[in-house]
Formats: sequence, structure tokens, C-alpha cells
Amino acid sequence: MINFQYARANDVADAVRMIATDPTAKFIAGGTNLLDLMKEDVERPSRLIDISRLPLKTVEETAGGGLRIGALVPNSDLAYHPLIEQRYPLLSSAILAGASQQLRNMASTGGNLLQRTRCAYFYDTATPCNKRQPGTGCSAISGINRGHAILGASDSCIATHPSDMCVALAALDAKVHVMGPAGARVIAFADFHRLPESTPQTDTNLYSGEIVTAVELPAKGFTANYSYLKIRDRLSYAFALVSIAAALELEGGTIKEARLALGGVAHKPWRDTAAEAALRGRAPTEVTFTQAADLLLRDAKGHEHNAFKIDLARRGIVRTLTQAAQATPQLQSVKKIR
Ligand SMILES: Cc1cc2nc3c(=O)[nH]c(=O)nc-3n(C[C@H](O)[C@H](O)[C@H](O)COP(=O)(O)OP(=O)(O)OC[C@H]3O[C@@H](n4cnc5c(N)ncnc54)[C@H](O)[C@@H]3O)c2cc1C
Ligand code: SF4
Repeated sequence: MINFQYARANDVADAVRMIATDPTAKFIAGGTNLLDLMKEDVERPSRLIDISRLPLKTVEETAGGGLRIGALVPNSDLAYHPLIEQRYPLLSSAILAGASQQLRNMASTGGNLLQRTRCAYFYDTATPCNKRQPGTGCSAISGINRGHAILGASDSCIATHPSDMCVALAALDAKVHVMGPAGARVIAFADFHRLPESTPQTDTNLYSGEIVTAVELPAKGFTANYSYLKIRDRLSYAFALVSIAAALELEGGTIKEARLALGGVAHKPWRDTAAEAALRGRAPTEVTFTQAADLLLRDAKGHEHNAFKIDLARRGIVRTLTQAAQATPQLQSVKKIR
């Protein structure tokens, strides 16, 4: 039996105040990841600060033509929100590729960003893991590493970030709004999650005591030419081996703008602006897409069980960009349940 305290925050300032007085406390939103980690004895917060009733549940239009999504908007509400379906179908599609309907009903926008890796050794307290217990070693590097990273890994950790939603947010150039003891700040999505380097215990660039309050989408939603492809062992209820978010703006038979981000391949959603630049001004052909895939995967490195992901990613990128160019996005297997 692990003892912990429970307290409910009244507003954002209250939540920030409460966590500042107890750095070993944790915010809890939907609880779909944190409670599992507590049951497995991976997380041992002294106190749970319940933020689930804070007024951060709306999707609002911004002055710049984009949207501001409250951190507590449930994943299912977001995927089915009319403004998301109409203006950011890539995001809707990516969310619906994740978890199950029941989980998406509970999971929050902020919690999805901050969910932790699904590396089995991270969840198994009987094994060494630098992310769970810094300095103990990484069991995955010489262990079962089929689902692990092929890009941006380090000698300390080869874990992947498991989110689908975040891959689309990376491609869409979202921003994350946070509030902390030093006030509010905005973090570009590319800078929100971090690579493991020698400190894999730290997943993000959030400062201690900061709470995510919202995610902001810019005006551009790529409504015509987009696709989210998730390749996994089962068609539902499984994390991505590789996932690809692709969005194109086509003009006169050439690519005017391109977005390309991958999930399941790195410690963070992997967006490559060099590969995007290589697509600009080119015809949307298989040759163009293969060259962009090769560029994106130029530094990919496999381990004993996951080297297959490099070719899987290459083929997946070409397929997803082709779907986007042809305006035939990958359909997700879930039916809408409202
Ligand atoms: C069986 C299963 C299958 C799944 N499959 C998928 C999948 O295929 N794809 C996918 O993307 N996800 C998947 N998920 C993960 C799921 O999407 C996440 O668990 C969920 O998004 C987390 O949201 P939450 O609100 O429940 O977070 P919580 O569990 O409440 O919190 C998670 C972490 O975020 C912190 N936190 C939460 N909100 C905030 C905030 N506003 N500010 C600061 N910190 C905060 C908490 O302190 C905690 O550390 C799966 C989960 C399960 C259990
Ligand atoms: S890959 Fe990362 S999370 Fe997995 S065992 Fe190694 S250090 Fe731990």
C-alpha cells in the first residue's frame, strides 16, 4: 500500500501554488497514464493535485485565425469537435488512431502531451532503467527493443514518445501554453519534448511546477491534402511502431508547402524541416517522396530487434505523402460514437 495525499485545485493559480509547496506532488487529469504508473510503483507522488475540474475545457478561436484548445479538453471531444474536424482533420485523424474510445473519453489534451514512454523496462521496476532510476543503465539497448527509437536516441535511453496526437501537433506547428511560479510562457511544439541525451529522466522542457494550460493551433490546417498513417501490431489499442503525419499545400502541380512528422521512432515527435524543405517546389511524385524519406532517415540507427523500422518508416512516409497528395487520407478504423 502506497500512501499519498489527494487535493483538488480550485483554479490554475491554486494548482501552481499547491505544486510549488510540494515538488514531489503530481498533477492528475484523466489519470489514464499516471494511475497505471502508480499501480506499477513507477511513480510515487506524495500528493495528487486533481486538476480535472479546472476551467480548461473549451476550444476557442484565436485572433490570428487559429484555435486555442484547453488542456483539459478530452481527446474524444477534441477529435470530434466541429472546428477540428473541419479545419484540422489531420489532428482529428491522429487522435482517433490512438488508444480506445473509453480511454480517449478520459484522456486530456495536456495529459496526452505528458504521457510517459511505453518501454516495458520503464514499467518493470525489477530491471535497470535510466529514465525511471537515473544511473542504473538501459535494459532496452541490449534487451527486447522492437518498439524502440531509430532516431535521436542516446547511449542512455532508446525509448520512444508514444503519443499519436502529438505527431499531428508537431506537423501543424502548434504551441504549448504553460503557467508556472514565474508566470505564463509559450513553448513551440518542437521545443516542448526533448531528446534523451544523458538525462532521459526528463521528458520535456517544462520547468518545475509548470502546468500546461492550452495548446494553440495556427490558422493553417491543411484541410485538403493530409494523411495520418499509424502502423502497429493490432488495428486498435496498440501503440505505433511507426506513425506518419503528412500535410501538403499543392499549387499548379508542385508542392508549395509540406509538413512531415513521425511517431514511434524517437524520444519526441520527430519533425524534420530539412525533409520538408526538400519537398517544396517539387512535383508530388514517388521519386520526390522517396528522396524526402531518405533525407529524414539519414541518421536512423536500428538495434537488434527494431532495424526493420527504418525501412518501414521509409515506405510509410512515401505512402502517407502519396495519400496526402491524392487527397485520400488514411481512414481510421474507429466509428464515431458521440
Ligand atoms: C491501454 C492504453 C492504450 C493507449 N494507447 C494510446 C495510443 O495508441 N496513442 C496515444 O497517443 N495514447 C495512447 N494511450 C495513452 C493515453 O492517450 C494517455 O494515457 C492520455 O492521453 C493521458 O492523459 P490523462 O489526462 O489521462 O493524463 P494523466 O494520466 O492524468 O497524466 C499524465 C501525466 O501528465 C501530467 N499532466 C496531466 N495534465 C497536465 C497538465 N495540464 N499540466 C501539466 N502536467 C499534466 C500528470 O502529472 C502525469 O504526469 C493509451 C493509454 C492506455 C492506458
Ligand atoms: S529505453 Fe529508456 S525507458 Fe527503456 S529501459 Fe532504456 S532508459 Fe529505460
